[in-house]
Amino acid sequence: MTASSSDSAKKPRIVVCPACGGSSVYGPGNPFRPFCSERCKGIDLGAWASEQFRMPVDAPPDEPFGDPKLQ
Ligand SMILES: [Zn+2]
Repeated sequence: MTASSSDSAKKPRIVVCPACGGSSVYGPGNPFRPFCSERCKGIDLGAWASEQFRMPVDAPPDEPFGDPKLQ
């Protein structure tokens, strides 16, 4: 049991792309990690900027966390 863990370091780590759900290489060879490609990275950022950031504006007026005993 000596220093023989360099074998796993050679293998590129595969993760799930948050945008398309496909396989993505999580390593120095993939500058768009954890995304699989530049397109997937752009899609995710676009969704956040255009849609998801404006959705929560319509929040329900009734706050379940509002403690009436405090007032
Ligand atoms: Zn992808």
